[in-house]
Amino acid sequence: MLKETQKEETKVVEKKEIKAIEAIDDEMLLACAHCGLCLPSCPTYRELSMEMDSPRGRIYIMRALVDGRLPVDEKFAEHIYRCLVCRACETACPSGIHYSRLIEEAREVFEKNFKRPLSQRILQNFVFKRLFPNQKLLGFTFWMIWLYQRLGIRWLARNLGIMRLMGRMGEAEKILPNIPSPLLKYSLKKVIPPEGERKHRLGFFPGCMMIHIFPSVNLATARVLAENGCEVITPQKQQCCGALHTLSGIKEPALRLARQNIDIFEKIDVEAIIVNCAGCGAALREYSHLLADDPDYAEKAENFSRRVKDISEFLAEIEVKPPQGEIVHRVTYDDPCHLLHGQKVKEQPRMLLQSIPGLELVELKQADRCCGSAGVYNVLQPEMSMRLLEDKMKNIAETNAEIVVTGNPGCLIQIGLGVKQHNLNMRVMHTVELLDLSYRSRDATS
Ligand code: SF4
Ligand code: SF4
Repeated sequence: MLKETQKEETKVVEKKEIKAIEAIDDEMLLACAHCGLCLPSCPTYRELSMEMDSPRGRIYIMRALVDGRLPVDEKFAEHIYRCLVCRACETACPSGIHYSRLIEEAREVFEKNFKRPLSQRILQNFVFKRLFPNQKLLGFTFWMIWLYQRLGIRWLARNLGIMRLMGRMGEAEKILPNIPSPLLKYSLKKVIPPEGERKHRLGFFPGCMMIHIFPSVNLATARVLAENGCEVITPQKQQCCGALHTLSGIKEPALRLARQNIDIFEKIDVEAIIVNCAGCGAALREYSHLLADDPDYAEKAENFSRRVKDISEFLAEIEVKPPQGEIVHRVTYDDPCHLLHGQKVKEQPRMLLQSIPGLELVELKQADRCCGSAGVYNVLQPEMSMRLLEDKMKNIAETNAEIVVTGNPGCLIQIGLGVKQHNLNMRVMHTVELLDLSYRSRDATS
């Protein structure tokens, strides 16, 4: 996207003219001690060795913008958008800098002040304001994608080189795996009763990408929860979490989606809101920050975010039924950034995997490093994304694992792509799928 913007004439915006400059948290910028402890953890700094592509460098850039020493232009955007928002720098930072908020705020200022080319504005408008806030339209789009993949149109489009002419859409098409039948998503019932006595009543947030690309993960999640005495309620009218919007600096639709989700979950009385998508989970936990200045929603958002739990985190907290079916496989686990750095969930998925009889868990070298997926980063910044995926795949190959496990749809897609590109004989699965398999293979043998 940015390459195209570079063709446009630079528009320098003076500080006094910059819209929404107050969106950037000045105090947070000042809290940075410039110690540089975050630098080794930053993937773009490791790859490019450039200060401006490090967390500290980007904080300098934001500071310069706030002080009126820098215009809102392509140079600013180049460094701000090259960040993956992987949040590894937050884990490393001793000053508690909430870096993802800063980068989202900087992007918001960019989007409000910079006039992108018409084609990009149309695409942005469609994706953020029409497609993702409309679950019916999103569902219809996935029906179209499914038909495109099944009817041989993809084969034709690729062989005729049409996708190469489609820019970002072509990039997205290359990355997208084969999607399963769109009918599968209807197998997830609105209310799933517990097996035996009810111990917990939970809300489930199934996430747009999980619904349409990995519906089997949602079904596995519901089954595992039911197995552990949980009644699972999936409100039908819930919306996209808004993560892609905030990551892209498009805040208004994200606020609307957040309010809708809060209202929907307020209507059901549940002790926790379970998520199996790390990106959605991190975004839902941020509702309390996103709506902190909204007098009607601040308290409700606080109450909502407090109840959000990743499936592995919730299962580790309750007295989980020991899985009994054997899974005799060598397995490795890759931490999704938004689970590890965004939600500080590290040991729980490993613990659950280790509880499965027969499963051998081998630790993955640099499991805490981003695989390059990062929302739509692999579509917008394919070159950097593929460099990071290469590093990840080298480490994955070294484990000789038969199954790679992770906890986020973006990572499932990205690592799945890497496995295909490297022709590795490995499956890529979600933690909860293995747990479900173990419970069900016990049932099959008992
Ligand atoms: S570790 Fe934190 S305080 Fe130190 S330079 Fe990085 S962001 Fe700033
Ligand atoms: S969020 Fe990730 S890519 Fe961005 S500055 Fe921090 S460590 Fe680097």
